[in-house]
Amino acid sequence: MALVITDETPPAGYERLVHVEDVESGLDAFICIHSTACGPAAGGCRMWNYASLDDARRDVLRLAEGMTCKNAIADLGLGGGKSVIIGNSRTDKSEALFRAFGRAVDSLGGLYYTAEDVGITPDDMAIVASETPYAVGLNSGAHASGDPSPFTAEGVFQCLRVGAEQVFGSADLTGKRVLVQGLGHVGMALAEKLHAAGAVLIVSDLNQNAVKRAQTDLGAEICSPEEVFSQQMDIFAPCALGGILTAETVARLTAKVVCGAANNQLATPDIAGHLRARGISYLPDYVVNGGGIISVAGEIHRRGENYRRERLAGIAERIRRILALSQSSGKTTTEVASDMVADILAQASSRRVLA
Ligand code: NAD
Repeated sequence: MALVITDETPPAGYERLVHVEDVESGLDAFICIHSTACGPAAGGCRMWNYASLDDARRDVLRLAEGMTCKNAIADLGLGGGKSVIIGNSRTDKSEALFRAFGRAVDSLGGLYYTAEDVGITPDDMAIVASETPYAVGLNSGAHASGDPSPFTAEGVFQCLRVGAEQVFGSADLTGKRVLVQGLGHVGMALAEKLHAAGAVLIVSDLNQNAVKRAQTDLGAEICSPEEVFSQQMDIFAPCALGGILTAETVARLTAKVVCGAANNQLATPDIAGHLRARGISYLPDYVVNGGGIISVAGEIHRRGENYRRERLAGIAERIRRILALSQSSGKTTTEVASDMVADILAQASSRRVLA
């Protein structure tokens, strides 16, 4: 049976939701376009063993909306979208599956650009790209941008310096105790930059090889995942999972700045208020971790190194403005960032109506 692409009615505020099935290859996926107000939608493809179709649908909706905010605030001329493939990324991958997914992306005619997310590698994306020009984050090709993680780490590092300057009066990180939770692609690169900048590192990861490497190469102190929130630290850099900031963990957090790569760090939106009440500067995740999508945007727009560098510097400037506006207005940093996104989207929509 051929590829079956079914348009589902998206929730209010969303532009498109398609369910994609290909019995032959076993592909079962969703592609969601939340908004194209700022340009074609862009966002990674996640492969995950969802317990149900509903779980996958919920996730793709949530992630696509997040990409609208991330892409709008990074000023990339891109809208928000995301895709999820239901399956085990260790056992269910095949060339046929990624080719079928590539044909599904292609059928949207450029409304959506896909790239790597959890469970998807540049090699997988190269197969997708054999069926569509709308697959990016590739390792080879004229404008290939490769692994986005080093750019994410650089953006987080620059924002972290802005946060330090605002809270401690200096961007100099010498002697500052910084806890990096998660030493994966982004966390390890960030830890290396922090070490080079003279910070005292505390690290935590389930992967013992990663923590040992940080201990040996970067002189890091190690703490177990359960001990993270009982550590003495100046800055907390979450680079593992989302949802780690709860009323309970924020009450114990000794850091004065939170700045990390992990998506959806706040368990619920009201946690921004808890952080503010405790005098902790929270640098909104989707602003801070935009370096990776900036790198991918360079590939989409066929732009060179300068584009990446300027947009990365733009993230740090935006964080500076968000922190200043939060202080002067009494709003939380997440409220200020949401207001900015709403303004950008409103302006983009009115430009579209006029065009
Ligand atoms: P990764 O999978 O390479 O690394 C995650 C690391 O976290 C792994 O080493 C894992 O062992 C560790 N980990 C998992 N649970 C943990 C726990 N309870 N305590 C401590 N460590 C734990 O992922 P990544 O690409 O480095 O991304 C890190 C985070 O940043 C993710 O939330 C991701 O969504 C987000 N992010 C990444 C990028 C990017 O460019 N890679 C861009 C934007 C956002």
